Amino acid sequence: MNNPTYSQLKKTFLDSGYEIRFFPRRKLEGMALDAPADVKRHLDSNILGLIVPDEGIIGIAEDLSQDERAVTLLHEWIHLFDEEIDEEEVENLTLEIEQQLTPNQFGFLQFLVN
Ligand SMILES: [Zn+2]
Repeated sequence: MNNPTYSQLKKTFLDSGYEIRFFPRRKLEGMALDAPADVKRHLDSNILGLIVPDEGIIGIAEDLSQDERAVTLLHEWIHLFDEEIDEEEVENLTLEIEQQLTPNQFGFLQFLVN
């Protein structure tokens, strides 16, 4: 698999029309339980973000710091880019891409979750 670049992820997001919303963590966990199986398999015990395809929403836990929100958004962008990538690989890719971000690129993520 070719790793997605930041630019590819950003384009995928902008083309998707998904909007970003912030939810209390308990609400996010409830949404995860209601989610279809293909969404559920991405979940672990510590839910920071979630994609809700039916509503075109990327949900992010509202109690996170701005930097944590930005990184969580990056994580969800990878799910959006390729839903077949498993959770562990998404985590690895998130860290890898995060380390390569320019200040402007990270700034755009911060702006989106502000
Ligand atoms: Zn995930």
